[in-house]
Amino acid sequence: MAEKTIREIAKLCADCGTCQSACPVYQAELTEPNSPRGKVNLAKALADGRLAPNSRNRRLLYQCLVCGGCEHACPQGVEFTRMMIEQRNRAAAGRRIPWLKKFALFFYQGFILRRVLWLPRLLARTPLKRRLSLPAFQKAELKKIVGRDHDREYDILLFPGCVFTYFYPQRTIDIKALLEKQGFRVLYPPGLQCCGFPYLSQGWGDKFAALKKKNEAVFRKFHFNRIVVPCSTGVLAFRKYYELPGIEVFELGDFMFRHCRDAAIDPGFVNCFQGPFTYHDPCHNLKSLKLQKEARHFLGQFGGRFRDDESALCCGFGGIFKVGFPSTAKKILNRKSAKLDELGAAAVVTSCPGCYMQLKENLDVPVYFFSDVFKKQ
Ligand code: SF4
Ligand code: SF4
Repeated sequence: MAEKTIREIAKLCADCGTCQSACPVYQAELTEPNSPRGKVNLAKALADGRLAPNSRNRRLLYQCLVCGGCEHACPQGVEFTRMMIEQRNRAAAGRRIPWLKKFALFFYQGFILRRVLWLPRLLARTPLKRRLSLPAFQKAELKKIVGRDHDREYDILLFPGCVFTYFYPQRTIDIKALLEKQGFRVLYPPGLQCCGFPYLSQGWGDKFAALKKKNEAVFRKFHFNRIVVPCSTGVLAFRKYYELPGIEVFELGDFMFRHCRDAAIDPGFVNCFQGPFTYHDPCHNLKSLKLQKEARHFLGQFGGRFRDDESALCCGFGGIFKVGFPSTAKKILNRKSAKLDELGAAAVVTSCPGCYMQLKENLDVPVYFFSDVFKKQ
């Protein structure tokens, strides 16, 4: 850890417990070791050598979505995410990645999908469908939108992320078209890899470093000065853990709000369902990037058809969290689902590919991505 040690971060904790109400895992399990405060105290004890690492405390370290909720709520400024990532990297050092997590990471990042297109169809008939939130396989020719002009000056490099590249490729095509419609020259380059955050947050820093190196090599081949990512986790990875001098990184909604505030919404969007729709705030959007008004600027234009959900409840996806802790993830999703029922939401819009997949594949109401609310032509 470059700037601060685990001990320095953890000692800021005043044991006040303010973070508990912001923590989806604590709210689901209601046990102190599963609260952010419990995890800070665990990190302190491990760092001081008062506790030796064992399977129980290692499991507790991983029973966290790294959603940033506690950090957002903490009056003491405890850098929980940074501390947790460092702690996990120490815990994982020299250990093998468990096969199920390895499989899930490979799967979500499409390493398997690229080669074996029949696999998702087969898995969709097994209990893994719910466990992995498997979507139906979507056919879309991403090759057609790949840009290879190394001499051209682009305004934006579009980094769609793994979920939109491999599971919902049409979303990538739509987002590129949306940005081009606003007058930008958009590059979707070949050779992009996962941003690496799922590896970093699990403690596998060497895998993260390898992916980062490959992405930076792709970036160096082209001329652009902005990266737009329809995923705040990717934005965090680029802003905090990559070296990208002279390049600004934006989450899609943030970019639309700052640069295309007058972009036309599609009034016909609300004809796809009956009743009000709401917005699901992805944790990293709200709690880490502090994006709250950006998407609402556009969604509010649907007037009474938009019913705001101010609960900030998590969806329970958390990258591969739901693979390791399916029962906790289900409890978290159930709270979200109950909130949607209470609001009478007939549809949900969100702006994180992971939340989109989790909600779309598990809820009974239609789920849309933020870019769907804009006019296509
Ligand atoms: S809110 Fe911050 S200071 Fe209070 S218990 Fe949680 S981590 Fe510690
Ligand atoms: S990062 Fe999220 S899940 Fe983890 S302890 Fe903090 S609030 Fe809870």
